[in-house]
Amino acid sequence: MKTFTRKLMSVIIAASFCFGLASCSKTPAASSVASETTTAAESKASESETSAAESKAEIKTVTAGKLTMATNATFPPYEFHEGEKIVGIDAEIAKAVADKLGLELVIEDVEFDSIIAGVQSGKYDIGCAGMTVTEDRLKSVNFSTSYATGIQSIIVKEGSPIKTIDDLVKGKYKVGVQSGTTGDIYMSDAENGGVGEDRIDRFKNGNDAVIALLAGKIDAICIDNEPAKAYVAANKGLSILETPFKEEKYAIAISKDNEALLTAINSALDELTKDGTIAKIIEKYIPTK
Ligand code: GLN
Repeated sequence: MKTFTRKLMSVIIAASFCFGLASCSKTPAASSVASETTTAAESKASESETSAAESKAEIKTVTAGKLTMATNATFPPYEFHEGEKIVGIDAEIAKAVADKLGLELVIEDVEFDSIIAGVQSGKYDIGCAGMTVTEDRLKSVNFSTSYATGIQSIIVKEGSPIKTIDDLVKGKYKVGVQSGTTGDIYMSDAENGGVGEDRIDRFKNGNDAVIALLAGKIDAICIDNEPAKAYVAANKGLSILETPFKEEKYAIAISKDNEALLTAINSALDELTKDGTIAKIIEKYIPTK
C-alpha cells in the first residue's frame, strides 16, 4: 500500500502542476474498473444483473448508447488528471455504473458551478463530482443514493495564527473557496458560522485557491477533506486545521426529467455496493491499510 500511496501522491503532485499545461508527461493509466469488477459482478447471483438489465431498456441519455458525465477534475482523489485521462473515485464508480447499464462513459471536464445547470438543462446525463446533496440542489436535480461522505476542512499555511474555525471567523481573515461549492455556501453565510460574503475569495477550482494561499493572497481555504489532504500532500508549507466541520453526503446528480435513469443508477449503485466494488474503488484511492 505504501508504494501505491507514493504513486498516488506523485500523480496528484503531477496533476496539480499539470493543470492548464498542454504537455504533461503521461503516467500509466489507472487500471480499468471494468477488468476489476467483472469478476465480482459475474460471481454475483443473476438476480442483481437482471435488475440493472431490466432498467436498461427504458433509459434515454443525451447521446444514445453513452452516459455523459460532467465533473470538475481538480478534486483529487475523486477526479483529477492523470496525463490526458481523468481518473479517480467518481470516474471509476461512474464507469462501473455505465458498464452495468450497457452505456459508454463520456467524461466532460467543466466548471463545478455549471454542473447542476447542465444536468438540469439536459446537456449532461449526470453530474458526478464529489457533489454534496443539499436541500437547495434538490430543488433543481434528483440525487442518487449516496456513495461516499465528505467533511469540510480548512487549509492554512504552516505557522498560521489560525488554529480553529473560531479564529478564522473572528479574525479579519480572507477565505478562498471553489465557486458554487458547499464550502462557498457555508463560508459566505455569516449568520450561520461562516465569515461572510466580503471575506470570501471565489476560485474556479481548488488548485487556483491553493496557488493564492501559497502566494499569501488569502489566509485559508475551505474545501472537502480528501482534496484538502491531497493538496497539502502535494504542496509544501500547508496544513489542515484539526477542527473539520459539516459532514456531507456525496451523490450523483441526475435530471428530474429522467426518472428512469435515476432508478437504473440506483440499482447499479446498489449492486456495486453489495458486491464490494464501491468499497474497493474507494480503498484504491483512499487506502486505509
Ligand atoms: N462537495 C462539495 C460540493 O458539492 C465540493 C465538490 C467539488 O468541489 N467538486 O459543493
